Amino acid sequence: MKTNVDVLVVGGGINGVGIARDAVGRGLSVMLCEKDDLASHTSSASTKLIHGGLRYLEYYEFGLVRKALQEREVLLRAAPHIISPLRFVMPHMPHLRPAWMIRLGLFLYDHLSSRDILLGSRGIQFKTHPSGQPLRESITKGFVYSDAWVDDARLVVLNAMDAQERGATILTRTKMVAAKPSEQGWQVELIDTHQRPFMIQARTIVNATGPWVSSLINESIHPKSITPRNEIRLVKGSHIVTKKLFDHDHAYIFQNPDNRIVFAIPYLHQYTLIGTTDLEYKDDPNQVTINTDEIRYLCDSVNTYFKQSIQPTDVLWDYSGVRPLLEQEDTKNASAVTRDYHLELDAPTAGAQLLSVFGGKITTFRRLAQEAVTLIQPAFANHHANWTDTASLPGGDIANADFNSFCVKIEQSYPWLPADLARRYAGNYGTRMTTMLKQANSIADLGEELSPGLFELEAQYLVDVEWAQQADDILWRRTKLGLSATPESTQRLQQWLEHYRSRESSN
Ligand SMILES: Cc1cc2nc3c(=O)[nH]c(=O)nc-3n(C[C@H](O)[C@H](O)[C@H](O)COP(=O)(O)OP(=O)(O)OC[C@H]3O[C@@H](n4cnc5c(N)ncnc54)[C@H](O)[C@@H]3O)c2cc1C
Repeated sequence: MKTNVDVLVVGGGINGVGIARDAVGRGLSVMLCEKDDLASHTSSASTKLIHGGLRYLEYYEFGLVRKALQEREVLLRAAPHIISPLRFVMPHMPHLRPAWMIRLGLFLYDHLSSRDILLGSRGIQFKTHPSGQPLRESITKGFVYSDAWVDDARLVVLNAMDAQERGATILTRTKMVAAKPSEQGWQVELIDTHQRPFMIQARTIVNATGPWVSSLINESIHPKSITPRNEIRLVKGSHIVTKKLFDHDHAYIFQNPDNRIVFAIPYLHQYTLIGTTDLEYKDDPNQVTINTDEIRYLCDSVNTYFKQSIQPTDVLWDYSGVRPLLEQEDTKNASAVTRDYHLELDAPTAGAQLLSVFGGKITTFRRLAQEAVTLIQPAFANHHANWTDTASLPGGDIANADFNSFCVKIEQSYPWLPADLARRYAGNYGTRMTTMLKQANSIADLGEELSPGLFELEAQYLVDVEWAQQADDILWRRTKLGLSATPESTQRLQQWLEHYRSRESSN
């Protein structure tokens, strides 16, 4: 392992891995450290939308919305296996926002950026549109528009894989604890997964620690030589998952009387994902959980619109995360705080620079990464141009970004795989599915079924190629099979992992 690099990226959420990938692709030597698993915090707790953010138009955030709208099609092309177009139905409640205002917003949404893949918006009558079926009879018309769905945790892992394949070192369960600037660069102390400290030297540190951005500057940079010019505001958001509440492939966007919006999204064929809340958060970002008021709020939001009502007892799973938002002094309401980002560059010595990331969205991570690397690049004798706008992510090199045709080919190539398993593998791994399946020719070749739907061959690949170490890494982030796991199968998987990893490390 190199101990002297151009760039140390701290944080393996979407912004950290995006920056590591961009930087190594521009010829810099890069190391990334993540204190837990990749995507174990905010970047696996999102609503999983690649979206312009229709409601940000109300806050006149045209620049942010435009940038995010442009990114939808760039990302749909880069990773069509984990990102897919999604149509959103907005039932119209005349007392909340007038129809002319929604029409104007959707017109802007359709035209602020060019579209090839995604369809435009239109008005609909629920009597004749399939999305009307679960809605209360009093709701007669609405609108439909496009955004995209993403497997957020896999987007993180694919960026990390791409960075590693281009030469970056990715260290998970490795924490940065201290950094001291010198004329030669930063002397950085890291602690590895076995709690062993080690030192590296880096010309630039990128602080992509999301909710921890200010604490990293205030607590780990010694002597205290940098005062952050921006601040972060932590806003908790929670989601619930129920069995599926409707039988079509559109999502709903519900407007609430408190001016917030809640999505109800088809999730993994059998479920509905409902979120999110927006609550000020002052506690430890490592320990964020949903509370009973949030569950009630999300159930009530859905019950206002759907005929079939849901109760807290219908919740099968929930998750929460904290948005690391850019603090704005004039904004009291958590929902109104900007989702844009700010990059702060400091140079405590001539040889050491620190770039800190404040705010952001999954949708804009690639643009953020591009701007971040452009900012740090002048310190290096290296002027490679931007490159990520046309590059695929691992497994995303699918002809014409046409995922459905790709699935048809997969089913023909692997006639022995059950159709739902073939589709899940195609969606998780894209063209890397052949690498994952090695020479397998039958279900028996996949090995033992460690947890429902998870066979040994896939688990091995996730350990060998995708940094999975614990059962949760596999069940909740590399796949979403946690929803069908049992306590016994989770324990079996954990034991299998310990055995497999100890065998691998002794080889
Ligand atoms: C409820 C909710 C819904 C959202 N929905 C959407 C959405 O639909 N679409 C969208 O575009 N955006 C959405 N977002 C926003 C998006 O999820 C975040 O902007 C994004 O995930 C932030 O990524 P990050 O890399 O900055 O932070 P994180 O993902 O939190 O990553 C930071 C990482 O730094 C690590 N770290 C911290 N300190 C250290 C250290 N000392 N050493 C090593 N590692 C360290 C942490 O362990 C963490 O993994 C949502 C956010 C929330 C909370």
